[in-house]
Amino acid sequence: MSRTSEIQGVGSVPHAYYERSEPLTGVVLLPSQERHDPGEHPENVRRLPGVVDRLRDAPEWDRLFVLYPRYARTEDALRVHSEGFVEILESTGADAPLWLDTDTRVSRDSYPNSLLAAGAALAAVDAVAMEAYHRPDSLFALTRPPGHHTGIDKAMGFCLLNNVSIAARYAQATYGIERVAILDWDVHHGNGTQEIHYADPSVLFCSLHEWPLYPGTGWVDETGAGDGTGFNINIPMPTGSGDVEYLEALDRVALPVIEEFRPEILLVSAGQDCHAADPLCGQLVSASGFKAMATRSAELARRLGIGLVVIHEGGYNVSTLPLLDRSIVAGLGGFEVEEPDPFAPLDAEPPGAWDERLESVIATHAPRWEALR
Ligand SMILES: [Zn+2]
Repeated sequence: MSRTSEIQGVGSVPHAYYERSEPLTGVVLLPSQERHDPGEHPENVRRLPGVVDRLRDAPEWDRLFVLYPRYARTEDALRVHSEGFVEILESTGADAPLWLDTDTRVSRDSYPNSLLAAGAALAAVDAVAMEAYHRPDSLFALTRPPGHHTGIDKAMGFCLLNNVSIAARYAQATYGIERVAILDWDVHHGNGTQEIHYADPSVLFCSLHEWPLYPGTGWVDETGAGDGTGFNINIPMPTGSGDVEYLEALDRVALPVIEEFRPEILLVSAGQDCHAADPLCGQLVSASGFKAMATRSAELARRLGIGLVVIHEGGYNVSTLPLLDRSIVAGLGGFEVEEPDPFAPLDAEPPGAWDERLESVIATHAPRWEALR
């Protein structure tokens, strides 16, 4: 691609213009993440510190672009959530600790911390959209609480604010970006993200998730509504899916459709709970599978000349999460990672019904997307 041929429209100058031989990636770190403290809970304060320690100890640390977030503003949250819901979240501090649903527990400072988590996603958008030679090609926002289960007005599934949706709408409102693609590989369906953008053709949502599993949504036939029909793509992965199936879902459906959509920014809801050793799921993705998914996402963004923002969602095995998140950073930056994944399955049987599931996704969406025909 020529370095200037893609410059058009009113959005940010495409990344291809700054063409460098080495991709530049990095992380957004979340100071004081421990202030959101649900106590003994899968989504607990111990999840991220080990990830940051592992990255700091890694040889590639010095090559990373590292930044810290500001708080998202209320108006950023209100592009996605209802006023009543934001007021409820804001008021929880006074009565905390309390449960917002059967899974979602807040402590006194959970709301400000969730604004910081959303702010980390926004800082990443700002960084990949800025006009500077040393602009990163991609960033991984190490955020908690996660966000993809929260819809317009309901917190659920460990999530408070929907970080990825807030980032999508912020990118559109701030940078004149028209089309945003969201790829979600968390093991659970991103029902909140789906709800928020369901009738919106400017945001393409594509989710790979174990099915059946919590929250129960995410079947193939949920394709969007009104003008947004065809812009919501669910790939329900059978239990027991591993690297082969996840990469096939990306290569045959998600990435070609995203490429055809021609987004001006790519956001990834990265939940590492589809890993083989995660306590909440039955999937078998390995560390090298996460690296490969990150590599493919980064290559696509580079090919399209756009920024990539990866936002942390789930991943609940505190001892494996550092390796998995490091593998994602390695995929984004093209780094070698020598650490083996002790849980990588050997000779896993292909899960039943996978071919039928994939074919039904392709058949459902082929009328709208040429890339699937
Ligand atoms: Zn999850």
